[in-house]
Amino acid sequence: MIAAVCLQNVHKVYNNISVVNDLSLTIEPGEIFGLLGPNGAGKSTTIRMLTTLTQPTQGDIVVAGYDVIRQPFGVKKQIGVVLQQVSVDMDLTVWENMEFHGRMHHIPNPRRQKEIDRWLEYVDLSDRRNNLVKTLSGGMKRRLQIARALLHQPQILFLDEPTVGLDPQTRRRLWEIIKGLNQQGMTILLTTHYMEEVEYLCDRIGIMDSGKLIEIGTLPELRQKFGEGLLMQQTGDRWDYKFFPTMDDAKTYLEQQPDKTGMMIRSSNLEDIFVELTGRNLD
Ligand code: ADP
Repeated sequence: MIAAVCLQNVHKVYNNISVVNDLSLTIEPGEIFGLLGPNGAGKSTTIRMLTTLTQPTQGDIVVAGYDVIRQPFGVKKQIGVVLQQVSVDMDLTVWENMEFHGRMHHIPNPRRQKEIDRWLEYVDLSDRRNNLVKTLSGGMKRRLQIARALLHQPQILFLDEPTVGLDPQTRRRLWEIIKGLNQQGMTILLTTHYMEEVEYLCDRIGIMDSGKLIEIGTLPELRQKFGEGLLMQQTGDRWDYKFFPTMDDAKTYLEQQPDKTGMMIRSSNLEDIFVELTGRNLD
């Protein structure tokens, strides 16, 4: 099977600085892949290269079988893109935004109207179709962006920080929408700096920092690699962390300590792994 997304030794240089540095990565059809990393890690730049909005300085990128530099129109037909900044037109209605996008992609009527109805229904915006976008909440605008990105039936959906700035309830709703799309067979690549988003949604995770992919795998694989049990120890206002292969190992270690003051054990999570890798928190 041909990979949905393949990057080989990709670099992006801005002002002599490598903001994406030798990135190689393959995403299989049907995966939800999460690129996780702090602000400035190079996630958006990666998405922009994958979606033909900017060219790599060096390296090869193939999306849905098309080369992003030589066959950008082939790529564009096969992808849906939701970027961080809200890109829908505020002075048009929900339906007008969808209609405009549908025409841009030359989707003929009556199929265009059928697809508009279908995707507005899917993101629960049917009753808002005649409202101006500027009257919608942040979560609704994001849902409209997703509906619009799906209108031309792409194979791969790119979501750059899809739930940033949204309240927890709205975030959960979007997660259900994203999961549902994946269950229908859509390949999804999303970027985020929210740990829970990755843990809830992603089949595989790539951790980026300073332009480099520093770790990749499923969450169980990463936890197995770094250790599933964690001992936290507070000394003054500092916390130290120690990984153990299993929770039982962590428990045994704790029981053997003559002085357990300030110590506790718990299961490790992605945040712990990120801190272990970089010495920093994600935010
Ligand atoms: P992330 O999405 O992980 O927060 P970005 O890809 O947005 O990271 O940015 C990575 C780095 O590239 C940052 O230091 C940012 O300032 C820089 N950068 C992004 N776009 C440009 C640009 N058009 N010109 C110059 N520098 C840029």
